[in-house]
Amino acid sequence: MSMKPLQKLVRPNIWALKPYSSARDEYKGAAASVFLDANENPYNAPYNRYPDPLQLEVKEMLAPVKGVKPGQIFLGNGSDEAIDLAFRIFCEPKTDNVVAIAPTYGMYKVCADINDVAYRPVLLDDGFRLDAGKLLAAADEHTKLIFLCSPNNPSGNDLEREEIVKVLERFPGMVVIDEAYADFSEQKPFREELETYPNLIVLNTFSKAWGSAAIRLGMAFASEEVISLFNKVKYPYNVNQLTQRQAVEILKKRFDVDKWVKTLLRERGQVMAAFAELDICEKIYPTNANFFLAKVKGADAIYAYLVKNGIIVRNRSRVELCGDCLRVTIGTPQEDNSLLGALRSYKPETIK
Ligand SMILES: *Cc1c(COP(=O)(O)O)cnc(C)c1O
Repeated sequence: MSMKPLQKLVRPNIWALKPYSSARDEYKGAAASVFLDANENPYNAPYNRYPDPLQLEVKEMLAPVKGVKPGQIFLGNGSDEAIDLAFRIFCEPKTDNVVAIAPTYGMYKVCADINDVAYRPVLLDDGFRLDAGKLLAAADEHTKLIFLCSPNNPSGNDLEREEIVKVLERFPGMVVIDEAYADFSEQKPFREELETYPNLIVLNTFSKAWGSAAIRLGMAFASEEVISLFNKVKYPYNVNQLTQRQAVEILKKRFDVDKWVKTLLRERGQVMAAFAELDICEKIYPTNANFFLAKVKGADAIYAYLVKNGIIVRNRSRVELCGDCLRVTIGTPQEDNSLLGALRSYKPETIK
């Protein structure tokens, strides 16, 4: 099955929407030096001016790094903005639905609930593997979006490429692939497949490998047609000037990012090997991200013990398929040694 025409997938009110036209949108002429169009204060430079609504400088620098065209990039206030916009663009509240793998990143369901769109989770298998047939069986004519996450959070593994491709080829709606952790994985990123799959939306973020969670900058890559819908619906100045400037700075330090990734991957191997030796460790799941999921003997008690010692990991033990699991982010060697040292001294109060 091929993709439905975009107009059939987009909410009619969004398709017809005439977006807000800001002063900075309307002025596109020769170099100007006197700006009396936006009711800004002429004092307090450089904070007095509205930022570029389309963040063109950032996109020009980002495009070659990511192997896409500037027009195929949307930038938002974290990936979370792109996720929310996907709902608002494609999903009619109370009518449409989305399908997603489970367990996965919690924001897809939160955005579905906020937008009053039914969320249909489809369980991965016990090795957190994707079965495209099972996923697609949950979709119907009101399914507008499918959410995949690879490497997946909280399990850490890459989803199998052939299964993702089956979803892209067979689903007539939009497929969102969240590749927040792709920098840590060997798998070929799907953002390079935009020309092949017009129904593909890929999410990336500055928050993980790029070390810039504080600036809140997320990316979506899709066809220029789809990106123009994102641009139409977003707040006019959704990415502030401080964030745009800092994004340019981090893009100049690409080699630091590569170094961080290499360091974290090396450290990950050491931490996982040491963690596997702990008495409390039942199992460590394979990972392609900067964290790993571990099944332990009594996750709640261990989590509470670590908190008491000032060490915070993520307790995922109430998540489906993750009973007694903790998710551990790779930190500095000092941080990781604090964790391992604390766990070596851990004594369960009662042994069940
Ligand atoms: C951390 C994470 C993000 C990043 O979200 P931002 O809003 O860009 O910080 C996106 N997706 C997944 C799966 C994540 O784990």
